Amino acid sequence: MTTRSIDQFGRTIEYLRISVTDKCNFRCVYCMPAEGLQWLPKSEILTYEEIAGIVRRLAPLGLRRLRITGGEPTIRPELHKLIAMLRAIPQIEDIALSTNGVKLPELAAAFRQAGLDRVNLSADSLRPERIARISRRSLDFDPVFSALAAQRAGLGPIKLNVVVMRGINDDEVVDFARLTLDHPWHVRFIELMPVGEMRDLTWDHIVPSEEILERVASIGNLAPGAGPARGNGPASYYKLDGSAGTVGVITPMTHTYCSTCNRVRLTADGRLRTCLFGDHEVNLRDAFREGRDIVPLFREALASKPLEHELLQMKVGGLRALSQVGG
Ligand code: SAM
Ligand code: SF4
Repeated sequence: MTTRSIDQFGRTIEYLRISVTDKCNFRCVYCMPAEGLQWLPKSEILTYEEIAGIVRRLAPLGLRRLRITGGEPTIRPELHKLIAMLRAIPQIEDIALSTNGVKLPELAAAFRQAGLDRVNLSADSLRPERIARISRRSLDFDPVFSALAAQRAGLGPIKLNVVVMRGINDDEVVDFARLTLDHPWHVRFIELMPVGEMRDLTWDHIVPSEEILERVASIGNLAPGAGPARGNGPASYYKLDGSAGTVGVITPMTHTYCSTCNRVRLTADGRLRTCLFGDHEVNLRDAFREGRDIVPLFREALASKPLEHELLQMKVGGLRALSQVGG
């Protein structure tokens, strides 16, 4: 019999996002202040053995899919070792990675060999000087080159995530959509969320998904389409006539998808968060380190997973940057 974990509203929880670090080699304008954040001390961060131990204990309760994220996960040394440990857990069917892509050309092959299934690459511009301005770093990196490296290593289907900001990169929506004509990639446009310390951004920078899709439709016939075979999350997918890939929109600001939420998050310091926003979290790390069973804590957390996030109503206190909660 297959075991499932069900939350208080009947949603099956099978997907865990694991943040392996709160640090990053970028300082994206919508995610982190230029000077960085107050980083967690190393002793507070879960070791790879601890992460794998927690997943091993929870997997029999119904976890099937994992995503490694951060901060920027690829800056944590020897990430392939964690991937291999997670791959060895029998119940886990799918392991994905979210990355800004800077280190993918160097690391993609080792990740694949360790058992990674696929990557999501965040890319907010295709123009070098603009990438540097949005990420506040000049790392001389080309997202298309990184996506090709991931594809060559067998880490498909490749998803490219673009946070659309009015007046900053919204003039590139069409350029990103054109990538799907020739590449079997899934380009997903994400509505900007007003979280963290976005000092330079306001609600006026949010571009609703309807407007994004209108722009894409200016270059060809756009019809609702099937998304990638694996890892269908909250995105809605469309296809340009004759294209190899798809275009998707992720709409946290204009439409919520909380009713079908199947995920929880493990922060770098071992908190299980049941919602991206708000203060719904339990400390698994201390229990795990003390040798106590974490299963009752996991069940308790699911029993209080909220029905929907409160971002739209702006009722959320202390909005944390996504880099701190494993966005
Ligand atoms: N560093 C990795 C990356 O950038 O893909 C993984 C962590 S990052 C926090 C995960 C995703 O959150 C990225 O796709 C990023 O663009 C998105 N993100 C972060 N802050 C956001 C915001 N304020 N609004 C919308 N998306 C955001
Ligand atoms: Fe780093 Fe990702 Fe946040 Fe950008 S979005 S600062 S790459 S964690």
